[in-house]
Amino acid sequence: MTRSAVVVGAGVLGSSVADRLARSGWSVRHVEALAPGHVRSGSGDESRLIRASHGADALHTRMSRRALELWRELDPALVAPAGVAWFARREDGWEADSEATLTACGVPCERVDPEFLFPSVRTDDLAFTLLEPEAGILHARVACRALADRAVAAGAERIRAVARPDGERVVLDDGRVLEADVVVWACGAWMPALFGDVLSLRITQQDVFYFAAPGAWATPGVPGWVDYDGAAYGLGDLDGRGLKVAPDVDGPPFDAETGERRVHPEHERFAREYLAHRFPALAGTPLIGARTCQYEITEDTWFVAAPHPEHGARVWLLGGGSGHAFKHGPALGERMEAWITGAEAAEPRFGLGPRSADTSLRTIGEL
Ligand SMILES: Cc1cc2nc3c(=O)[nH]c(=O)nc-3n(C[C@H](O)[C@H](O)[C@H](O)COP(=O)(O)OP(=O)(O)OC[C@H]3O[C@@H](n4cnc5c(N)ncnc54)[C@H](O)[C@@H]3O)c2cc1C
Repeated sequence: MTRSAVVVGAGVLGSSVADRLARSGWSVRHVEALAPGHVRSGSGDESRLIRASHGADALHTRMSRRALELWRELDPALVAPAGVAWFARREDGWEADSEATLTACGVPCERVDPEFLFPSVRTDDLAFTLLEPEAGILHARVACRALADRAVAAGAERIRAVARPDGERVVLDDGRVLEADVVVWACGAWMPALFGDVLSLRITQQDVFYFAAPGAWATPGVPGWVDYDGAAYGLGDLDGRGLKVAPDVDGPPFDAETGERRVHPEHERFAREYLAHRFPALAGTPLIGARTCQYEITEDTWFVAAPHPEHGARVWLLGGGSGHAFKHGPALGERMEAWITGAEAAEPRFGLGPRSADTSLRTIGEL
């Protein structure tokens, strides 16, 4: 018998689940208020890093490797094969933990001289640089749309409407009421407004900046990079968009629906100072673009992927991307199918219970 699902949200997480279920023969209705990867969604940016390093955490290391495989299977052109370099400020920090975990999981990585990777780079504050040569840059918005479109090609019906929960039912703003064997809510930064009574997410403003750079800074060529202890990451000039620098400090609280998309002056200052510090030849180069986005952060930066406590396995909540849903999306979609059907027990650390704030899967810093 064909099983049915309603998936709400066509960001990378909702699209991953809709795609996975539709391709497994489920009858899927995929509800989205606007469009997959629209500009206010977390999935609406042009580029996202996809890397396997997650410190000592093997679960996310393996899941991101699987996701990379699945993105390439969807379309190899979605991933720019640039590699990602980690600027390690300590011998015994996140990068050393990552190196050990990557090696144990069979993921290639090597310590390199960053002067071979970047046209100009400051290294006097670095203990070493770890390169993940098989990591890359995902063409994020395009990739999100490609997933959602493949779901439709596999038979999913895409419905453009705003949805609200009514017990196990999904009520649309056009008056329709949808019922299904399983409902998955994957509404990114909009989750607290819908399910604030059962899940805890902080929504923060995150800004990314694009700077003018000469041709030698093109990515691929120049890899993506992350400075975990410096709370910054970026990449070279991908497709002529400019060299990207993103402060990874937690920004101020943000409302994805009503917030004005104006960058925070402190974020711009941070990005300019980081650029001048790490890549001295680019100090003072013009800012040519910027974009305001939002994180939806759980206390420990692990995802939420759990049944709603009042509706058993019929209603699932999926979110809390915490700055890393692209590097796991399609693999998480695969796991979600197994959890929804009961083929596997859901990951307990993605549950709705209390979280400890003492771990983080992304860089953390202060302004
Ligand atoms: C600056 C920045 C940098 C990042 N860098 C990386 C990175 O390098 N690598 C990485 O892996 N990740 C990165 N991320 C994180 C990643 O982009 C997000 O985790 C991911 O896009 C979130 O996807 P989502 O599907 O949960 O939510 P969204 O993409 O926000 O999608 C939610 C969707 O639900 C829809 N929706 C909401 N409410 C309703 C409703 N009531 N009815 C119908 N539809 C509704 C919305 O319209 C939206 O389309 C970054 C994020 C930011 C902001």
